[in-house]
Formats: sequence, structure tokens, C-alpha cells
Amino acid sequence: MNPDTTTPLMQQYMDIKARHRDAILFFRMGDFYEMFYEDAEVASRVLGLTLTSRNNGGAAAVPLAGVPARARDEYLRRFVQKGYRVAICEQVEDPKQAKGVVRREVVETVTPGAAFAEDLLEGTRNTFLVALQIVDAEVGIAAVDLSTGELRLATVSARDSDAVLARFSPRELLVPTGMNTAVLSVGLDTLIAEREPWEFDADRGRLLLSEQFSVQSPLAFGIGEGERIMVGAAGALLRYLRELQPSGLPHLARPIVERPGRAMPLDEMTRRNLELVEALRGGNSEGTLLAVIDRTQTSMGARLLRQWILAPLTDTSAIAMRHTAVGALAGDATVRQSLRLALDGTRDIERLSGKAATGRAQPRELRALGDSLARLPGVLQAIRPILTAGLLKAVAEQWDGCTDLSDAIGSTLVERPPISIGEGGASTITGGVDAELDELRRTASGGKDAIASLQAEERARTGIASLKVGYNRVFGYFIEVTNANAHLVPSDYQRRQTLTGAERYVTRALKEFEERVLHATELIEQLERTRFDALRTSVGREIQRLQHAAGAVAQLDVLATLGDVAAREGWVCPTMTDHFDLELVGARHPVVERMMPRDQFVPNDLSLARDTRVMILTGPNMAGKSTVLRQIGLIVVLAQAGSFVPAQSATIGIVDRVFTRVGASDNLVRGQSTFMVEMSETSAILHTATARSLVLLDEIGRGTSTWDGVSIAWAVTEHLHDRIGCKTVFATHYHELTQLVENLVSVRNYNVGVQEVGDRILFLHRLQPGGADRSYGIDVGRLAGLPAAVIARAREILRRLEAESLVEPRTPRPAGSKGVSAADQLALFAPARTHPLIERLRRIDVDATTPLEALTLLERLAAEARREDPIVAPNEGGG
Ligand code: ADP
Repeated sequence: MNPDTTTPLMQQYMDIKARHRDAILFFRMGDFYEMFYEDAEVASRVLGLTLTSRNNGGAAAVPLAGVPARARDEYLRRFVQKGYRVAICEQVEDPKQAKGVVRREVVETVTPGAAFAEDLLEGTRNTFLVALQIVDAEVGIAAVDLSTGELRLATVSARDSDAVLARFSPRELLVPTGMNTAVLSVGLDTLIAEREPWEFDADRGRLLLSEQFSVQSPLAFGIGEGERIMVGAAGALLRYLRELQPSGLPHLARPIVERPGRAMPLDEMTRRNLELVEALRGGNSEGTLLAVIDRTQTSMGARLLRQWILAPLTDTSAIAMRHTAVGALAGDATVRQSLRLALDGTRDIERLSGKAATGRAQPRELRALGDSLARLPGVLQAIRPILTAGLLKAVAEQWDGCTDLSDAIGSTLVERPPISIGEGGASTITGGVDAELDELRRTASGGKDAIASLQAEERARTGIASLKVGYNRVFGYFIEVTNANAHLVPSDYQRRQTLTGAERYVTRALKEFEERVLHATELIEQLERTRFDALRTSVGREIQRLQHAAGAVAQLDVLATLGDVAAREGWVCPTMTDHFDLELVGARHPVVERMMPRDQFVPNDLSLARDTRVMILTGPNMAGKSTVLRQIGLIVVLAQAGSFVPAQSATIGIVDRVFTRVGASDNLVRGQSTFMVEMSETSAILHTATARSLVLLDEIGRGTSTWDGVSIAWAVTEHLHDRIGCKTVFATHYHELTQLVENLVSVRNYNVGVQEVGDRILFLHRLQPGGADRSYGIDVGRLAGLPAAVIARAREILRRLEAESLVEPRTPRPAGSKGVSAADQLALFAPARTHPLIERLRRIDVDATTPLEALTLLERLAAEARREDPIVAPNEGGG
């Protein structure tokens, strides 16, 4: 398409567009925002806007689409929700005063990751924009929530970056041009922005950080000289934000540097498999851990609870601070109740103050901020009886009730201000604030009395009793006289409008009056605006105090919620230790339990100590293996996030990470096969887990043939047991794996019990020692409604297969394994073990054997050897 530069206007457009290539440009022209060329085509395709064309004479027609200025926000929202950036270009001088083309500038660019408007944000979760760069195996991360001003920086190993990204789940990612983002675990709908690699330079970042926060150097935030990758990412982020918000970012909070080791990284698969904040299927929040515990009353609390769940702590004393506070709240229903009352109706102080600081807050929003701040003293008052408990003490000690600010707002703005100044003629500034304003208001409303007296005067003067003084938008004030009285109209009346049955007139006195009133109304609006802007600026200047207050409210809201859950659901305070052991008594699954009638859930005991650190969990489908497995992970996450846990008692040696791998979940969206994904996820666990980790595996190796699967599962378990030494729970339907106990000292078998009643099975959901001896697949098939004939035939085949197997008659053979006995299976998976026959030969004490005994023994061994298949343990060299 040939750019049209034939007119100065189009030249200006092309210049501005060149600087905002990756955005839709809303180009203000009078009462419209116009889009040209590709932008217009996108608008017509994506939003269904009518595509027209502009012909500038001579040059080819320019495709054009426009939206009315007053409907801007609606179109903006629709674009951004579809993943587009929108640059808003305004006329920045009065067209009447302009010489030549009106000056225009982009005043803001709205993107999915950088928005302020409520309808582009979710109240209960942050919207993060993340800048990152990878240098060698290190990843520097800078994450901002523009709406709240929260800024977080971190340096993590490439291996941990998935977990950190999963926690932020950014809506938009800023990376150096050319970086391969396919390796990052971000959603497909994450918008990627690219900037030149030099923008990620550390020295530049250092300067920008210092400048933004008016500090000597980033050292002020505890950022060391060596943290170049992270500082570089922060620099690129700040630069990008300035691009989006040219008028500045006064509300950005000082950066919080996240240090490794303080919080537990939870990678994407673990977060999803445990269904912490998002359901495994569907992606909504129903049936998630967050959904069952979230009783927060404020958006700030809801966001913080989510953050706590996604970043459990690893520091005993920090966890204790939370547990103590939760305990105090759980134990005092009265305090909880009054805290709830005090928090009720508190609006989003964090986002409202961000709007105040960036000059976006409208009268109603500023008043909401003031009203919410006015609730703070009551909030502190509510927790007074338990002020010394753990985190509550810390919150109270740094309390700032911001009463000066709530007073200022409360005494300046009317109780229910209009959405915007002057809207519907409603006042924004309350009486008594500004004498001039009050005087003008008297004039304007005195006008109403004046109309009444004017009408009375004219009626008296003309003798027309039905004469009316009225107002309409087109003609202004008028005097209306019915046709019946037309002959009484005085000569100074000037006719303006003819109606059926009446005429409308004006007089000079009426016109003068009109001007006075209109002028007063105009002045009122101006003065209100000045007052309001001053108030907003002075409140916005206190952004740090406001953010701090919002943080305090959020923490109290979350603690009250956790206290409430603990008290109502009978959860207990876990004992946290720095030792290895995990010991749960009467543990329940917090979500599954909620899905069934009270007391239907069967609690389970469980212990993972150094010498019993690997638990192989077998049992038929539907027995409750996954439930037990996830319940352990959820309890550990809850405990370390600071919550009480669903159990009778719990002792938890703090873990550095929880890993889960669940066979059923696949990741086809990334174009890898299910099995490939499963293997790479398993590989990530084996590379990252430490002895302090908790690894939860559900059905490893399912995506391939049985023998492959068993082999991989076997080797993985050995590796976790021998090399890593972490707490492991492995749920599997391969009951072959129960034989691992014979080889590995710290492996224990458990199964989730079922009871056979005649032909049927009863699920007991009770965890018990020992491996399951069979799969119960046929029983489950029957439950699922397979035809009776198929069930009967399957039982017959199973019986025949079992009869053929000589060593373990209850073990059905895996498909394709005909002829291999269970003893051989064992041999296969125990390369270090000697063949059982050799083992028996070794044990023979020849000196103590009589010739007759020797002969019998030889006969028995020979018979046994003949029964064996030719497969033997490798260390016997095929003999
Ligand atoms: P598996 O992983 O063995 O196939 P699940 O863990 O998915 O089995 O459990 C199947 C169903 O059994 C669950 O959806 C739940 O309804 C029920 N269940 C599991 N554990 C319990 C329990 N401890 N008490 C009561 N019902 C349970």
C-alpha cells in the first residue's frame, strides 16, 4: 500500500504511526478517532467497523474506519481484550489556535498487560507485564502490575524460570528481539513484545531504576552490582512503560527483589495438577484450592491470597508469623466477625490510589478511595484484642490509617459525586470549601427563583395569566404565549419559534439573565475541576502510604479468611520443622472433601520419613490414589503458605519444592506428543528435585507400551530413591512396581483399600500398608457399564491367563508379555540381583548335606531350571 503523504495531515499520521507500528493507532480528528490503512482493515475485520475510504484528491484512496470519541473506551476494551495494543493519539492544542495542522501526540498506549480500566482487569488477580532476558543459564525477570504499581524483580536459574513465570502468568511478555519464546511456559494468549537487545543493558537499567525512584543507585533496594541480568530486564521494562505511559509512572512502588530460597517455586504443571488456582480442565477457578478457601472481602485480599498460595514460604519463622496470626483469628470468633464488618465495603484502595496518582481517578472513584480509607481505623480497632499475634503485630506496628487523606477527601467531595465533573449538573465539590464557588452556585440556582419572578412580572405586565417562561437546549430561555393571547403580546417581544397553538418569544432582559446563569454554570465547572485536580494531586502524592495501607488491609483480609476457614472446617495448625519427616494423621483433601456430604470423606494417615521416604501407592482405578497423592501436596502448600491444614495433626519438615507429574494431563497445544511431554516433565523433576523436595508422581510411563512404561517408572523410582533421596509418592496401576521394596531400603508399599463383596468391589478409600495384588480393571469396567457378556468373557480370559502364570497366579500379564513369568519380571528390573537359582546354590552348605538330600535337591533345582524361560539376569552371562 502506498503511503499517502500528499497532505500535511497524512504526513503527520505517517510520522506518528511509524513510531507505533505494533499498535492500532486511534488518531483523534475532532469528535472521532480515526484509523487508517491496515489499522482500519483490522478494525473492520476484528470489530466489524465499517470500512470507508478517504480521498485526498489525486492520491489513491486511503482505507479508513472511525469510532466516536465518546465511545472510545468501549472500542479500546474490545481491541485490547482481543490481544491488540491501542495507541491513543490526541490533539494537543486547541484547533482554533492551531497554525496549519493541529499538533497531535500519543498520550497513552493500552495493552493487555498494561491497563488501568477496570473492565480490562480482574479484581481478584494481578495483571502482570513481565520483561525477561536469558543470559547463559540465568534469567533476569522484572514484573509489573501497572494497575497497582507493584514491581518485582528476580534472578532465577533457567530451570526455575518456568515456576516464576507460572506464578506471574503474565498477560504480556517483553523480550529481546530474536529470543525464542517458544521455550517459555506462557499461555498462548500471552502477548509478546520485542525490543532491541541493547534496551536490556544493565548499565542503562541501573540509570533508569535510579532515575525512576530518585535513588543514588539500585543498591538502595538491595540490588547488588552483580545482578546485571535482572537490572537489565528492569531497565527494558521501565523504558517500555515510559513508551506506553509518556506522562510518567508516579505510582510505581519501589521494586521488591525476590530472592531464591524465600518462596517455593511452583512450576506450571504442579500448579495445574494440584489445581491450586485454576482447574486442570477448563481453566476456571471452580473446584480449585483457591476457590474453596477464598472468603476474602476485598480485591486486595483476594489478590494477596492468590499470591500466597502460589508462593508458599520456605522459612520457618516467616511461616510461624502467619500461623500464629491465623491461630489467633481462628480462636476468636468475635474478632473475626468485627474484622469482617470493618472490611466490608472497602474498595480496591490499591488500584484506586494508582488511578489517583496517575491523574485518572474520577470524582466517584476518589470518593470511593476516601470512604475506604475512612474504614481503616475501624479495621485496626477490630483486631485490637489480638494485636500481639505473629504477623498481626507486624501489621499493626507499621499501621498508617491515612486519616488525613480520608478527611481531605471526605470534606472536599460531596457524598455521592457524579462519575465525571459537571455530569448531569451535579456538584462534585461540597459546599463551604470555596467561597467563590458557593457564590456562583447561588447565582446559578438563584436563577431558578429569578425565573419564577420574571414570569410573575411578565404576567402582570401583559395580563396573560397563562404566560410561561421556559428553557430548551436549542433556543435557550423563552416566553411562551398561546395563540389565544397573541393580541396581548407587547412590541418588545421578539418571536423565536412557532408551535401549534403557541408562539415563543425572547426579550432583552431574558437574554441577559440567560447569559449570567450560563456563565455561572461554566465557572462552577471550571472551579470544581481546579479544586478536584488539586485534591487528586495531593492524594496521589501520598501513593506510597496508600500502597502500604492497601497492603495492610490485604494481609488482614487474608489472615481473617484463613482463620475463618480453619475454625469452620476444623483445620489444625501444622507443626513445621527443619527436619525431613512428613507425618499426617487424619488428613483430608480440602477440595474433594467439600464436594461430598460432611463426614463422607475418609481421612488417611501417612508418614514419609528418611527410611520410608518412597511410597508406592497401588490400587484399582477410582480407589482414591490421586486423591491421596494430591492431598499430600495440597497440605504441604497450604501449610507453607501460612494456612492451617485439613488434618487431625500434621508435622511437616519444610520442603523446598513440590513437584507433581500426572499422567493424564497432556500439553498438545505446544505441539508435543503426550508421551514426549510426560518424559520432559519427568526429566525436569529429576534434574531439579533435591533431598528436601516432595515429588508426587501419578502414573509415569503410561503413554508407551507396558514394558517401556514399567521400565521407565522403575528406573525413575530408583533414581529418586538412590540419587535424590527426596520424599516421593508414586501412584501407579503397575502393581509390578510393588516389588521395588525388595531392592530399595526406603520404599514402602501402600494401597488404597477395596473390599470384594462377592463379584463386586467396594471402595473403602482407606490407605493401608502393602501393595495391591491385582488391578480390578474388570470390576471398574463393570461399574462403567460394560455389557455383562463382555465382563463374563473378560473374567474367563483372566482366569486362564492366571492359570498359565506359575509364580504369581493373581497377576494378569501385561499385553505382549506372554511366557514371561513374574519371577523374570523381577529379574528384569533387578539387574543388581543374582538369579534366584544361583542364590539358592550359594546358600547350600555342602558339608551339612547328606548324599540323599543332595540328590533330591539337585532334582528339584533341575526341574525348576527347566520351568524357567531362557531370560536370565544379565550378570549370569546368559548361563
Ligand atoms: P484413583 O486415582 O485411584 O483412580 P481418585 O483419587 O481419582 O482415584 O478417586 C476417585 C473418587 O473417589 C474421587 O473422585 C472421590 O469421589 C472418591 N474418593 C477418593 N478418596 C476418597 C476418600 N478418602 N474419601 C471418600 N471418597 C474418596
